[in-house]
Amino acid sequence: MPPTHRRPRAIDTSRHFCPHTGCDYRGWLGLGNLRANGHPNGGQWRQFHCTACKGYFPEHHGTLLHGKHTSVELIVHVIGCLAEGLGIRGTARVFEVDPNTVLQWLVEAAEQLRAFSHHFLHDVRVQQVQLDELFALLSAVKDGTVSEAEAIERLERSPQWVWVAMDPESKLLLVIDVGARTLAMAQRVVHHVVQVLAPDCAPLFLTDGLREYMTALLTHYGQWVQPSRRQDKGPYPKPRWRPLPQLLYAQVVKTVRRRRLVRVSHRVVFGTLEAVNAVLAPLGCQINTAFIERLNLSMRQHVAAVGRRVSTLCQGEDGMRQQLALDHVYYNFCLPHASLRQPLPQLVPTNGAGSAKTWRPCTPAMAAGLTDRVWTLREVLLFRIPPWPQPAGL
Ligand SMILES: [Zn+2]
Repeated sequence: MPPTHRRPRAIDTSRHFCPHTGCDYRGWLGLGNLRANGHPNGGQWRQFHCTACKGYFPEHHGTLLHGKHTSVELIVHVIGCLAEGLGIRGTARVFEVDPNTVLQWLVEAAEQLRAFSHHFLHDVRVQQVQLDELFALLSAVKDGTVSEAEAIERLERSPQWVWVAMDPESKLLLVIDVGARTLAMAQRVVHHVVQVLAPDCAPLFLTDGLREYMTALLTHYGQWVQPSRRQDKGPYPKPRWRPLPQLLYAQVVKTVRRRRLVRVSHRVVFGTLEAVNAVLAPLGCQINTAFIERLNLSMRQHVAAVGRRVSTLCQGEDGMRQQLALDHVYYNFCLPHASLRQPLPQLVPTNGAGSAKTWRPCTPAMAAGLTDRVWTLREVLLFRIPPWPQPAGL
């Protein structure tokens, strides 16, 4: 698009794209074909004009807020309350909305949030991935609200575990899912991890003692190997499915007796102990301590919150997967992580009488280099996700 000689454009259109079918510029960012067109009829939404197809569209086109008569603030606050763990019924009571409406908004938001995760979480490069599955009713049992027998009985009916894959360095939550403790679920989680990572990224995998991880990892990080013939003559032996030479996988098994950690043992399954320790050494931890540190830090608090929610959801509330999609984005993009904060080069004075700011908040997504800022839930919900991947540098 040729530049015009009028006053410089003040509205940033770089995050928007033309949605009109038949337009050559449809779905592409940063082509300079869009002009901000003010707020039609004094409404709250800005309008954009595509100079290529002469079409118009509002800034919230394609988001869940498009076509809603409810105030944006209400929807954003309701989703925010759900993200902070209030639960569907609690949120419905606070805002005096029907629980079914809250659920409906959550379902619609989850679609947006999944696409948001998908848009940002790809080709991630990490040094290690820790996989874990946590007993969903753990916190409820600890609080004493649910007896252990009752929890197990409930789990027999619908066994729910929170499956988590995270990078302990950036605290980025690669995958979070809920399901039974089965091979199918392990395969599903590992498959998601592989999809999120860059194709040539082969991190160190650390898991607990669950055997199914080994099969799942071998499935995704394996190759056919033709063994050499023992003798000069005769048929070639059948090819074998073997782990890739760069695959590193270790299990860390914790023995807990009377809620106290008695013993930690480890087992290097694929690769060598030297190679595993070479990955862990720059991070300042050893194989034995890696898992415990992780559990003592962020994960426990966060997964406990998820677990608490899952346990209420196990009691028959809907929207569990949607809630997880929300948790995934909220944790990665919106919640600054205390252990990731960076010192500011100089102190920033605050408006009031408080002490000056000394830290720059940092979310896991920022630490992983996926974004350069802390997102608000409003921004996330209003983000127009391009229909296809954009060229790098946009
Ligand atoms: Zn257009």
